[in-house]
Amino acid sequence: MKKTFSALALALTVCLPSTLYAKNNVVVVATGGTIAGAGASATNSATYTAAKVPVDALLNAVPQIQELANVSGVQALQIASESITDKELIQLARKVNELVKDPKVNGLVITHGTDTMEETAFFLNLVIHTDKPIVLVGSMRPGTALSADGPLNLYNAVALASSDSAKGKGTLVMMNDNVYAARDVAKTINIHTNAFNSQWGALGTVVEGKTYWFRTSTKLHNDSSAFNIEDIKGDALPLVQIVYGSDNMLPESYLALQKAGVQAIVNAGTGNGSVPNYIVPTLVKLQQEGIQIVRSSRVANGFVLRNAEQPDDKYGWVVAHDLNPQKARLLTALALTKTKDAKTLQEMFYNY
Ligand code: ASP
Repeated sequence: MKKTFSALALALTVCLPSTLYAKNNVVVVATGGTIAGAGASATNSATYTAAKVPVDALLNAVPQIQELANVSGVQALQIASESITDKELIQLARKVNELVKDPKVNGLVITHGTDTMEETAFFLNLVIHTDKPIVLVGSMRPGTALSADGPLNLYNAVALASSDSAKGKGTLVMMNDNVYAARDVAKTINIHTNAFNSQWGALGTVVEGKTYWFRTSTKLHNDSSAFNIEDIKGDALPLVQIVYGSDNMLPESYLALQKAGVQAIVNAGTGNGSVPNYIVPTLVKLQQEGIQIVRSSRVANGFVLRNAEQPDDKYGWVVAHDLNPQKARLLTALALTKTKDAKTLQEMFYNY
């Protein structure tokens, strides 16, 4: 009886096309962050050093991922994500581009600090041309803490990246069992494990290694994007900076950025991206001198409505629509590699 079974198993193995039973190949690209962090004791859930643990140790800590896919690791960076500059972003995107072009690679997981994970995810969403799943994942507690969230997050991320159902859905963020679209996910809580959210909701959820989808994003991404990392020369993007809105602002904040050579300023304004009446003349003048003005909002939800609060058509300003200031910075910087026209820039904000 036993012999018949093993003969049958052998026959199936030999006869079935390899695609029917072969596991997908997933590469984990490690960049640091808390998921690679280490604290002094198990009760240090918030006091620890980020970017300590190398990729092999991360993978070995969750051996179950090898049941989901053939998983290998690459150490691209070892950094706390708040210290990432455009240079590291471009460097990482080039590595990711090289990996997705490899026919043996079916999906990527990028382990990343949570502070700027939404920025890296959005950048890759804009510049990597592929339909292969690219999944960013992090953790809020280091692996040394009680109830560390990294291992399950990593397991879920590998499940997602190895799932053919994730193909073509854009760059994804996997946190706390939820699957988010790179363009609208944001870190909204800085101390708990349910740190990420999107005002438009999660795309899906992963439970026990299986992905359940509920929505897709309608915005341009990856294969449909006009931007491509292969077109970016050197290791810098056009300089774009953010000014945070409040009461009692100073024109000097904007003028200092002009002196520093910015090509655009994202104004993280109050409410509907509002600009104080005593700041308006400065921004009108800066726009006339060739600096693009993008009105975003310091309010996490909603979107900035064009020509409401401020006459954008008259001033030649742009609204960031629902992109938060940090994502507006990246889209503006990429857009400036192609155009200096405010109308074209505005179209991009509606399309991405
Ligand atoms: N500061 C850390 C980082 O972004 C926080 C984290 O990963 O949760 O690298």
